[in-house]
Amino acid sequence: MSDSSIKTLISEFWDVVVIGSGIGGSTVAYSAAQNGKRVLVISKPTSSGQLPLWKDRVYDVLNGKNEVPFLGDGIGGSSRFYGMVMERLEESDFIQTELGSWPGLLSEWTPYFERAEALLGANKASPRPEWTPFFKKMQKQGIQIDPLNLSCRLKDNCRFCQSTLCDNDCKIDAFSGPLQKALKTQNAFLLEGKAIKLKENSGHVVAVEIHTSEGLATVRGQQFVLATGALRTPGILSGTECLGATAAFSRLPAIGCYFMRHFIDLYVVKWPELKKHSPELKKAIHADKVWGSKSLYFENGIKLGSMQAFGSFPEFNYVWEDFSGSNPWVKYIPGGKIGFKLALDHFCKHPLLATIVEDAPSQLNRVMGRSDGGVDIYYALDTQSRVKISYIRSRMKHILGQCYSNILKEAENNFRLAHACGTCRMGLQTQASVVDYYGKVHHSDNLWIADSSVFPTSTGKNPALTIAAHALRLADKGLLKII
Ligand SMILES: Cc1cc2nc3c(=O)[nH]c(=O)nc-3n(C[C@H](O)[C@H](O)[C@H](O)COP(=O)(O)OP(=O)(O)OC[C@H]3O[C@@H](n4cnc5c(N)ncnc54)[C@H](O)[C@@H]3O)c2cc1C
Repeated sequence: MSDSSIKTLISEFWDVVVIGSGIGGSTVAYSAAQNGKRVLVISKPTSSGQLPLWKDRVYDVLNGKNEVPFLGDGIGGSSRFYGMVMERLEESDFIQTELGSWPGLLSEWTPYFERAEALLGANKASPRPEWTPFFKKMQKQGIQIDPLNLSCRLKDNCRFCQSTLCDNDCKIDAFSGPLQKALKTQNAFLLEGKAIKLKENSGHVVAVEIHTSEGLATVRGQQFVLATGALRTPGILSGTECLGATAAFSRLPAIGCYFMRHFIDLYVVKWPELKKHSPELKKAIHADKVWGSKSLYFENGIKLGSMQAFGSFPEFNYVWEDFSGSNPWVKYIPGGKIGFKLALDHFCKHPLLATIVEDAPSQLNRVMGRSDGGVDIYYALDTQSRVKISYIRSRMKHILGQCYSNILKEAENNFRLAHACGTCRMGLQTQASVVDYYGKVHHSDNLWIADSSVFPTSTGKNPALTIAAHALRLADKGLLKII
């Protein structure tokens, strides 16, 4: 960005200042800009030629481990790498339990899911016929198969990749979708910079201090939207500088609490007819991310989650760094890195399924922003979660029967943070929540949160569509009504 354009952008008083350009930030920016508001999106930049990957270490307080999670950062956030699966919430997510629920009714959210799907170009995938024998076996076990809804242009050569910025240009993410649409309205502008802190007076945010290539700057506006992701938003909120007599957000003890991450396991599956196919076709079937099932979502009154084709593994180098960092046993694999690659190639000959199981909110599980910008997590699996994890594993083994080949147990891994959520939870009580049911921060008249941190429950669904639906609802029912 040129110095003069930075100066021009920071000199304006904006209708809406959005901090973060992931699914949440880009969607709310699009909605406000389309409604004629002057919007500034401030986002950490992505260095040219580099992948927009997370670089900060996360410290797992309970296990004493320090790792860089496999997440996206910079413009577009994690969506630049996501698996593109768009899933709507279910009726069961709106049933009130002592652990919480989603506000309102599914019917009230449905138009927002529809709009979010249109904005993110969601399409139904079509599984290739070679899956049919497997589907028949699943149907015999009472598992209903549905095509996945994908934010993907579904080109023939799509590899459903989850770690590269692929030349195929199939993926519709926050950057290529809502952010570009927002910028095209000419009401929204992007400023590359890192938000350092908000400044508030009696709960009214007056400015955000940012670091740009030009140094420190202050951006002012009428309304502010935090969308820096569930791991970072609590740190920014609790680091707010108070310009008045009483710090408004220090009266919100739930900031950072109720941190949730899904329990995700991967299953390697085989079926007799798969053997007949050529290695190339088997590889293509392995990469297919085209079907899912809701049959285990709500079973016998218990919320489990989604089951779906996982698609391609991320690039080997990420997988190696990630696995060898979090699984010390990997170094005992004969042949070390090469041995691990051979084992992975072997796995990748066969299709993989993922189970995404709901993680229930607990006040004890939390994230804390550090002064150096890093993040500490405190996360312990309780007995109920362990029971749920072992239940889904035995259920899957039974359902898959002879198709069950192997399992990659990842549910217990605290660094599986792709679906982190819940750290600035929605609710009515200021003791147990941070934002109201439309995303406005309690004790504030002009600060909103649009990312996955507002999730009251993690649900058993992929989160991106719900983040986008929340951002559109926040704009319609809150933000745009005020300005
Ligand atoms: C490999 C992978 C696969 C996934 N697959 C799926 C899938 O198939 N379907 C699905 O629904 N979900 C999927 N997810 C999850 C989904 O991508 C995330 O839940 C979603 O993108 C989170 O969006 P967000 O807006 O909450 O936050 P983020 O994507 O975390 O965005 C935060 C934004 O804030 C910016 N930011 C952070 N700090 C600052 C600061 N101080 N100043 C300025 N800007 C800042 C970041 O650069 C970024 O732009 C996947 C995630 C991963 C990693």
